[in-house]
Amino acid sequence: MKTMGLIGGMSWESTLEYYRIINEEVRNRLGGQHSAELLLYSLDFHPIEELQRQGKWDEMTQILIDAAKRLEKAGADFVLICTNTMHKMAPEVQDSIKVPLLHIADATAEQIKASGFSKVGLLGTKYTMEQDFLKGHLSSKHGLEVVISDDASRDIVHNVIYDELCLGTIKEESKKKFLKIIQDLAANGAQGIILGCTEIPLLVHAEDTSLPLFNTTAIHAKKAVDMALEGSEPQKA
Ligand code: GLU
Repeated sequence: MKTMGLIGGMSWESTLEYYRIINEEVRNRLGGQHSAELLLYSLDFHPIEELQRQGKWDEMTQILIDAAKRLEKAGADFVLICTNTMHKMAPEVQDSIKVPLLHIADATAEQIKASGFSKVGLLGTKYTMEQDFLKGHLSSKHGLEVVISDDASRDIVHNVIYDELCLGTIKEESKKKFLKIIQDLAANGAQGIILGCTEIPLLVHAEDTSLPLFNTTAIHAKKAVDMALEGSEPQKA
């Protein structure tokens, strides 16, 4: 089994999900007492969130590069950035290390294309919905059309992520708002919805809507397990 290196803590609420899903997946695939070989570098999210609001992306790039290098030095065979938003710096992080960076949008696009969809809605932070680093990656590299909600809805999604989900607060009223926004995206032609923020799956679940959801946390975590077990013989009877 390869050793995965996780850059987490953004927020730790979703890093916990990565840790749980990765270990469950390894156990399901290998059986017995198997669990994942992984290294976790968990950052303090408070200064990161401030730097995001100040638009100091260069400073955050250095923080992520430093984390990725530490994981590589500690023996990680590949690295994951456990947030969609911080994939803004994915190219620079990949350039700074020799081991592969498993990009969240590549793993997600693979699932979307396997479902036969070409047009999907995207929910995430305003950085993710409004800037091009994730949408552009999905369209230019994978040929997917990405739709986003209107300005007011983007504000709602963004604020719920930072003011509630990243702090571990789950509110029914916020879930209702998200489900309405999901319906609006479907009305604009979205065949499925990317939960493009690793905390959104804490609020919205597959059974809440008839529209297919692409849970980036689970997709990214399971793809990491694929990579870690590549070449290992399945041991489960
Ligand atoms: N975890 C979130 C994401 O997937 C938002 C927190 C962050 O800004 O990294 O985008």
